[in-house]
Amino acid sequence: MASDGPTGPVYIAIDEGTTSTRAAAFDARGNIVSQSSKAFEQHFPRPGWVEHDAEEIFAAVCQTLADVLADPRAAKPAAVGITNQRETVVVWDRQTGKALAPAIVWQDRRTAQYCDALKAEGHEADLTARTGLLLDPYFTATKLRWLLEHVDGLKEKAAAGSIMAGTIDAYLAFKLTGQHVTDHSNASRTLLYNLDRGQWDEDLCALFGIQTSILPRIVDTAGPMGTIDQDLPGAGLPLTAIAGDQQAATIGQACLSAGSAKATYGTGCFLLVNTGRDIKRSKNRLLSTVLCQLNGERQFALEGSIFVAGSLIQWLRDGLGLIADAAETQALASSVDDNAGVVIVPALTGLGAPYWNPQARGAITGLTRGATRAHIVRAALEAQSYQTYDLVQAMAGDGQEVRSLRVDGGMVANAWLCQDLADVLGVPIERPKVIETTALGAALLARVGVGDASSVEEAASMWQLDASFSPAGDRSAIADRLAQWSDAVGRVNT
Ligand code: ADP
Repeated sequence: MASDGPTGPVYIAIDEGTTSTRAAAFDARGNIVSQSSKAFEQHFPRPGWVEHDAEEIFAAVCQTLADVLADPRAAKPAAVGITNQRETVVVWDRQTGKALAPAIVWQDRRTAQYCDALKAEGHEADLTARTGLLLDPYFTATKLRWLLEHVDGLKEKAAAGSIMAGTIDAYLAFKLTGQHVTDHSNASRTLLYNLDRGQWDEDLCALFGIQTSILPRIVDTAGPMGTIDQDLPGAGLPLTAIAGDQQAATIGQACLSAGSAKATYGTGCFLLVNTGRDIKRSKNRLLSTVLCQLNGERQFALEGSIFVAGSLIQWLRDGLGLIADAAETQALASSVDDNAGVVIVPALTGLGAPYWNPQARGAITGLTRGATRAHIVRAALEAQSYQTYDLVQAMAGDGQEVRSLRVDGGMVANAWLCQDLADVLGVPIERPKVIETTALGAALLARVGVGDASSVEEAASMWQLDASFSPAGDRSAIADRLAQWSDAVGRVNT
């Protein structure tokens, strides 16, 4: 059989995640034609601290990029886009580009006390009004402040203008092209970005002791941003897109009109609803965030983040030894008629939206002598539906109904989970053919940014359904389950 061969231009996504980085080449129909990934080390120097070596990440980006570009199926690269783990901060030397400290990762909680102190001083309401975010160590600003305060000489270098700072996208863009840029979707995660004005907020920078001169220029999510340096893989290729991972996934899921929603079930779960040109201000501790800025026009999203999703399944496997493989959960969950009253609250690292309780810890409730391994596994999957239900309820409380939900991420290979989501949420669940939506989103944006598609709608028009799950099941039984969940969450969220 003849192979497809290199037929047309490809768009390269650099998908820089929390545990690994990947390069993927997509053709104009949105199919992956080549990919390469490389894991990098996680550093946990103290409890609650999580660091990455930015130089190691850059080396992995270069290697995976070189791998893909060496593949004959990616013979005609047209443009490169970056999508990245958000909020994580890097500081580097303006001249040499060398990282001057470990990158502090989004999961890192070292600034919790500082956040509490700012809360006690009454800053949270103003911060939320300006940024759409909450006062939580999750976001970039307090991490950058920590570096400036604690890394020898860094503050002085900042004052002298000899350093640069930014989220991972800004660091990679600088290393690849020499341009110090970030896009609006990433900037909106820093606690330094004024959501109404679409620029760095001088007052917030002053509050955190950060000179705006060390921050990147904020550019459109798609468009010409720079050219890859001569001595790097992909030399001469244009960098034409930057987007935060969840925003890229939303675009990869073609959730382009107001009201459309996607949830990604990986290590954690992130649900984003496109709110169009409106900034929806949440009364239920959801985040208002920039989805993208294209041709100078911004679109916004409302976001709910769950910290523990697939990592609960990893814990069943590695912590409890209940399963040998994540994929076993589907057969185990369907081997029993119900959960036998067992509920798991997956607060292994605190509770995310809409609770935001970092002190909460997990629980398994409703155990009886009748409870088996299968009931516990089923409860672990059901917990994903309940956590999503809480987010959807919070969204509805903010006037943003979720009428159908597109899902992706490693967990949605599990059809039982997809069906349970449909049953519990009472809305259709749609699973796309390409579930690498984050990388796909970056590639679509890169294609728009280089001018090979006239709009993101055109670029994303090839989105294809793999399977749809319609709500079924008895509503009163679902109501009973939700009551069990609400009781169990109440016990840990104290
Ligand atoms: P990330 O991008 O956050 O590393 P992925 O999207 O690759 O995560 O998803 C991996 C997660 O999905 C793992 O935590 C794994 O436990 C879970 N997972 C993978 N397959 C299944 C499955 N069939 N059923 C339930 N969970 C699964």
